[in-house]
Amino acid sequence: MILIDKEFGEVIVRKNAFSTGARFSVSTSGRLSISIPSCRSERYAKKALESCREQIREKLHVKDPATQRARDAQKKILQKKAKEYLPYRLNFWAKKFGYSYSGVRLSHANTRWGSRSSTGTISLNIGLMKLPEPLRDYVIIHELAHINHMDHSSAFWHEVGEHDPNYKRHEKALKMFSPGV
Ligand SMILES: [Zn+2]
Repeated sequence: MILIDKEFGEVIVRKNAFSTGARFSVSTSGRLSISIPSCRSERYAKKALESCREQIREKLHVKDPATQRARDAQKKILQKKAKEYLPYRLNFWAKKFGYSYSGVRLSHANTRWGSRSSTGTISLNIGLMKLPEPLRDYVIIHELAHINHMDHSSAFWHEVGEHDPNYKRHEKALKMFSPGV
């Protein structure tokens, strides 16, 4: 039996007397198949597919060499752009608002746009290069404000707001993007 999925295309469903739950596998050609217990129906397969969508996506990315190559290439481009641009931009805002920091590091974290270490090094995610400029600047200003406030206290937000009056809108808009490359 074959399911047509809006994201993964044709998914082969196999019934297996010995399975106790749904098992996904990806063939070398990148085709997804799911094995389900013999007593289960197509609806069960669809449900399992829905609840495992995120894991399947990861599995497919790892197995599909073309996708992996495209991601690697994109990462390289972002890395290059980030190297040319982010340290310069950080320096620009730091000078403008009178902050000093001990160094800058480019990161590839999947969950954070930026951070500031206790030694004063500011990390900026290369994924920032995918963002519209006002959001990129907001992240930089946010991290700079952490030089004076290590927390997210109201004093911290007050300082951010002095440098970026639209910070609330920017913080909200940032949630629509993911830092992962
Ligand atoms: Zn913060």
